[in-house]
Amino acid sequence: MPRPIQATIHLDALRHNLQRCRAAAGDARVWAVVKANAYGHGIERAYPALRGADGFALLDLAEAERLRALGWRGPILLLEGCFEPRDLEVCSRLNLWHVVHCDEQIDWLSQHKTHQPHRVFLKMNSGMNRLGFGPAAFRAAWTRLQALPQVAEVSLMTHFSDADGLRRGREGVLHQVEAFVAATADLPGERSLCNSAATLRHALALRLGSGSAQALAADWVRAGIALYGSAPDHPNHDAAHWDLQPTMTLASRLIAIQHVPAGETVGYGSTYTAARDMRIGIVACGYADGYPRHASLGQDHGAPVLVRGVRTRLVGRVSMDMLAVDLTPVEAHGGPCNLGDEVVLWGRSAHGPSLPVDEVAAAADTIAYELLCALAPRVPVAVEAMP
Ligand SMILES: *Cc1c(COP(=O)(O)O)cnc(C)c1O
Repeated sequence: MPRPIQATIHLDALRHNLQRCRAAAGDARVWAVVKANAYGHGIERAYPALRGADGFALLDLAEAERLRALGWRGPILLLEGCFEPRDLEVCSRLNLWHVVHCDEQIDWLSQHKTHQPHRVFLKMNSGMNRLGFGPAAFRAAWTRLQALPQVAEVSLMTHFSDADGLRRGREGVLHQVEAFVAATADLPGERSLCNSAATLRHALALRLGSGSAQALAADWVRAGIALYGSAPDHPNHDAAHWDLQPTMTLASRLIAIQHVPAGETVGYGSTYTAARDMRIGIVACGYADGYPRHASLGQDHGAPVLVRGVRTRLVGRVSMDMLAVDLTPVEAHGGPCNLGDEVVLWGRSAHGPSLPVDEVAAAADTIAYELLCALAPRVPVAVEAMP
């Protein structure tokens, strides 16, 4: 028997979450962001559920190539644009739209030989200070791009640093929306501003009152993490609040059960001491599977976990291939545990309940993005088809 750990991708949930993003986006078209191999889900696996999107956004030329190989003929956007001049040849060949965020990328375009002019998304740095032209330099870049024979159409975009909450007491997108609108008001072209958090919360921004918040949904939204069932503004809201469903389950089984007398410790470093006689389950899942080692550090800070669908928590350190869980609430609920009992690290239990990946991430002091993307190659992945 193979080691019992397995990830399952839920296509029905991916499709549902795409619908949720679409509903929140109003009239805007929806990019399904599938960078990082669809946030760890696998582009090929997720594609049947996400092909209802209006386009796919990603970073890697190789990932764009894989999407074309799947038969996707619609828009593909390179979110960081080209990394060197010859990437433009791939853009021409695969008909990729690409972000332009710096002068060098414009230089490369001006030297590029193509029969088919490109569609580009000119990126404004409206306050994140990562990629893009600042508001003052934006117009000159736009004018330069617009004049190139290699360019068919210039669209405008920006990216938010605080879309998941407040910044200095105001809804976090507003200062950047205002900067973007002020600098682009008289420029033609389609616009794209929102990530998942801004897409879902933009109604909130409207309610908090800003004329420019109308500009938020724009022509395209870029939905990433919400597609994958995580609340982009957790812990302000949870996935249930946004009606998002878990798209990945990481499940394993009990491979040993220990009776630990009061006063004994569990695992490396003896970080957990049993306060009373306890039954502990040993689970075939460790950090080499992508489970965060920091999910269990101190005595009473273990991440939540489902055993036979009943919530309990980790005890002791996560090791490379195993972790330990407290069986007390599980056995109180349904009698003694046995080897082979189901353990859900995040996602859906066959016994009914779900464990949001956001809660596990929070317990490990990180975000769901990191957990989903970190699913290790050694974990076998099954796909649960759409009904
Ligand atoms: C990753 C990314 C997104 C998607 O962000 P989520 O928070 O996952 O929705 C949108 N836009 C850009 C530029 C990105 O890099």
